[in-house]
Amino acid sequence: MISTAFEYARATSLDDALAKLRATNGEGKLIAGGHSLVPLMKLRLSEPKTLIDIARIPGFSGITEQADTIDIGAGTVHHEVATSALLQQRCPMLAEAAAAIGDPQVRNRGTLGGSLAHADPSADYPAAMIALDADIHVKGPTGSRAVKAHDFFRGLFTVDLAADEIIVSVQFKPVRCAAYAKLYQRASHFAIVGVAAALDVKNGTIQSARIGVTGASSHATRLTDVEERLAGHPLSMGSIEAAARLAGAHLEDVNSDIHASQEYRRAMIPVFTERALARALARAS
Ligand SMILES: Cc1cc2nc3c(=O)[nH]c(=O)nc-3n(C[C@H](O)[C@H](O)[C@H](O)COP(=O)(O)OP(=O)(O)OC[C@H]3O[C@@H](n4cnc5c(N)ncnc54)[C@H](O)[C@@H]3O)c2cc1C
Repeated sequence: MISTAFEYARATSLDDALAKLRATNGEGKLIAGGHSLVPLMKLRLSEPKTLIDIARIPGFSGITEQADTIDIGAGTVHHEVATSALLQQRCPMLAEAAAAIGDPQVRNRGTLGGSLAHADPSADYPAAMIALDADIHVKGPTGSRAVKAHDFFRGLFTVDLAADEIIVSVQFKPVRCAAYAKLYQRASHFAIVGVAAALDVKNGTIQSARIGVTGASSHATRLTDVEERLAGHPLSMGSIEAAARLAGAHLEDVNSDIHASQEYRRAMIPVFTERALARALARAS
């Protein structure tokens, strides 16, 4: 199907994008890579009157590290995240998650901000951002604010973002002892179940763990039972196997669709939790 007719405007700065968005009185939409929005428009599930292109705003993309904090611009495409030497060295889990997204066309156009704003229940970044305890920086007409990733994802395609706000960047402390493991749909590579695990380890003991799961339910969420079970235990396969067995037990709304039944997803959550944790363990040594 062909989308309904729309006006197109290219933003030259963040403030210009915000002003243009406001001027549409709720009838406009930002477009970054277009890999989620355009399919919705072609299905006429989204019919914006104006598209505001934010893909070419100077300074809107890029990966930098300052004072032990990594900052990624919302306009950064998945390919840049996947191939970043900084991330591969300092936070390989995130590069790994980005490399597992879609295909080269999707990775070359799709952006971090677009993925977080769209919040597909099977998208990879949400789980990774939850595991990294990332701050999502947002700008709107009344100013800027930061939202913790685990508070940002609220429901099916629903996030803590007003219609007149823009995701500007994400910030997090890099974690080396972390990994992402996913069972993916063969056609699109979206996650049937994807687990991002990050461990804080001192003298062979797990101080704390943060685990995000995607694909399993309406939105990415933490596996708090597993996190609590790991804390204070030795970093060993025994600890990981025992904790991973708890994964997903508390999730009430496990998805069921043409790709996988609820029972299958439930069975896969502990499997991929254990795989992510085992890879994180391997990075610790
Ligand atoms: C064939 C195919 C396979 C895919 N496979 C995967 C996969 O395996 N894993 C995965 O995670 N994803 C996958 N995707 C989704 C892909 O990663 C998208 O690119 C991404 O979800 C959206 O990013 P975008 O830049 O294309 O956003 P767009 O499509 O441009 O925008 C999506 C939504 O976000 C809003 N938006 C965009 N940028 C911002 C911003 N900075 N601030 C506020 N709102 C904003 C737009 O208004 C729109 O509502 C796939 C997509 C396709 C087409």
